[in-house]
Amino acid sequence: MRVRFAPSPTGDLHFGNARTAILNWIVARKTEDGKFILRIEDTDKDRNDPEAEKGIYEALKWLGIDWDEGPDIGGPFHPYRQSESFDIYQKYASLLKENGFAYECFCTEEELEKRKKKALEEGRPPIYDRKCLYLSEEEKQKLREQGRKPVLRFFVREGEVRFNDKIKGDVVFETKNISDFIILRSDGSPTYNFAVVIDDFRMKIDLVIRGDDHLANTPKQILVYEALSKILGEDKVKIPEFAHIPMILGPDRSKLSKRHGAVSVKRAKEKGYLPEALFNYLSLLGWSSPTGEEILSKERLIKEVEIDRISSAAAVFDFTKLNWINQEYLKKLSDREFIEFVWPFLEKTGWDLSDRKKVEKMILLVRDGVSFGEEIVKYLEVFFKEFDITQLNDKLKEVLDWESSKIVIEEFYKKLKDAEWTKEGVFAKIKEIQKENKIKGKFLYMPIRVATTLEEHGPDLVEVILIFGKDEILKRLKIILKEYYKIEVD
Ligand code: GLU
Repeated sequence: MRVRFAPSPTGDLHFGNARTAILNWIVARKTEDGKFILRIEDTDKDRNDPEAEKGIYEALKWLGIDWDEGPDIGGPFHPYRQSESFDIYQKYASLLKENGFAYECFCTEEELEKRKKKALEEGRPPIYDRKCLYLSEEEKQKLREQGRKPVLRFFVREGEVRFNDKIKGDVVFETKNISDFIILRSDGSPTYNFAVVIDDFRMKIDLVIRGDDHLANTPKQILVYEALSKILGEDKVKIPEFAHIPMILGPDRSKLSKRHGAVSVKRAKEKGYLPEALFNYLSLLGWSSPTGEEILSKERLIKEVEIDRISSAAAVFDFTKLNWINQEYLKKLSDREFIEFVWPFLEKTGWDLSDRKKVEKMILLVRDGVSFGEEIVKYLEVFFKEFDITQLNDKLKEVLDWESSKIVIEEFYKKLKDAEWTKEGVFAKIKEIQKENKIKGKFLYMPIRVATTLEEHGPDLVEVILIFGKDEILKRLKIILKEYYKIEVD
């Protein structure tokens, strides 16, 4: 089975394309002799970005997707970059022209636009009117002498084009709605619908798996295959099978885009998603394992994902689920690996991380709650933000205003001074306050948390206190007592 991923290098690899790459790769890896081909479709000079090609390689490699043939590693069907294959397209275009399947068209954009408008006004389909199909050689020569450069159009036959799509099922298109489309532009460069056929044909692609935004292009491509098959022989030209994957929508059901969040592989990496988790999530879209399990290794995904079982309805991207899956993969890391993974995110904050041992303790204290790397910052903020009681909001003030809070905090301050600085030691003091004052539950813990961290919630309170250290905690309690309750203590 030979499949291919054929991105246009116009920007970052977004989740939709990454999913297409993953599904192609999975199909190729199902069998020993399966081949996954990477082809760069860079015929659109205006939109190409040489950096983007590099970015695509990096994103695929990061996801753990390797390719068997491609522009960087070559292969038996070199070139794998369309911009390097122009002479090949020229050759096939000439073949189509010589055999009456393509013809030169000298119409200018303005002329075409005018006639299109007229057609629409008269209620006719706005397709090309074949004005140039019947030009004589002399007429063509004249136009050339006027400086007009022709494009090459494909002659669309009458009837319908049918194919069985592995995801969409039976698909039929009436060719009366299809214009004689351009295959070579006036500068000789090929258009997508032509180049893609020539490449899939010469690279012996068996199954084309791509986004369903290309479904409407497929009849045009099949028409080119048909023509080639008539010229070269049916045994030489095999039309590949097609599988058009539905789009990914954002949670609001509009096309998934930047405004929904991090939607490119690069951004996901920057935010601290693990490649295995993103791979796992993207390959689960529109499909589920018969066992109902969702954390699936690459090996299992290769075994279980079947292209024809993918839903033909659009998939809605669920960031909460991606986060959950990522968290599950983060849990598999050892403490050391986890620390190494989140460290760069902390470095970006500019916080003082010089007491590495202490910071590592903080990280391990919160690690279970972290669902992607960048989130570590939110979790550790409590340890690094300034202790500024002017930031007490109404909710926190309400806690400090409970009748018993003042007693709890004053007692805690006094008892902590000679507490043994261990979990048991600090805990024993809290228990003493409980017993002596008959205060328990949230009335005991919340005031202490607010007074020491200026937060209502957070990780294990005693652990947090221990990490801050005795001096810092006493200093904080003293500030609260003095400035909030107006109590002087020594
Ligand atoms: N270059 C096309 C794209 O990025 C590929 C379409 C195809 O796979 O045929 O959308």
